[in-house]
Amino acid sequence: CGIFGIVFAERPRRNLGEILRRALERLEYRGYDSAGIAVVDRGLLIVRKDAGKVAEVAARYNFDSIQGTAGVAHTRWATHGKPDQSNAHPHIDCGGIIAVVHNGIIENYAELKEELLAKGHVFRSETDTEVIAHLVEEYKRQGVDTFTAFKKAISKIRGAYAVALIDAENPKVIYFARNLSPLIIGVGDGFNIIASDIPTVLDYTRRVIAVRDGEYGYITPTQVYIEADGVSQDVSSRIEE
Ligand code: GLU
Repeated sequence: CGIFGIVFAERPRRNLGEILRRALERLEYRGYDSAGIAVVDRGLLIVRKDAGKVAEVAARYNFDSIQGTAGVAHTRWATHGKPDQSNAHPHIDCGGIIAVVHNGIIENYAELKEELLAKGHVFRSETDTEVIAHLVEEYKRQGVDTFTAFKKAISKIRGAYAVALIDAENPKVIYFARNLSPLIIGVGDGFNIIASDIPTVLDYTRRVIAVRDGEYGYITPTQVYIEADGVSQDVSSRIEE
């Protein structure tokens, strides 16, 4: 129901887990049944998630103590799979290095899941979302870089989505895609943000870009890259203050 991602060049002064917890509290008004975060710290992926209120889940897993340079956060409104820990986002790949958060519904997830199961992928949840992590892992295994794998994964999914994905092997990048679910980029100084709504971004920067349907790309601490139908989009002219 709400997503947030932020990427810094170095560990921020305030712990990343605290920044993510505050963003989740901002997103609470959208309604949710579960909450979770994933961060990359020194090349390692750390995931903490559960069913429950943001304050409860954040306290139970001590979000505020978690450090890292890039992280994604999610409040879930369950559509596929009951609200519990395994179905809470973020969802990870088999290797435990890719984490994805998603709003919306992937309509063709069942056939994608079947194909991935046949290739040996092991699923940990009943969600539609989890196929994204495994698709990216599968394409990476075939020898392409993460962004190429991400683009290929997005081209396979049908439905409504706002997606943010991190890969511990590329610790300074957050990949994103949007179709029919809101997604905003916050352009910062030494960091960048991807989020479901503007208020969540405004805590950190007043410069925002609205991602359009069909667009996908990535943010790094210093760069915003957006593409649509394989064509790179001009970003600077779209920054609103
Ligand atoms: N369809 C996904 C799920 O059930 C995402 C739901 C949402 O938008 O929070 O986990």
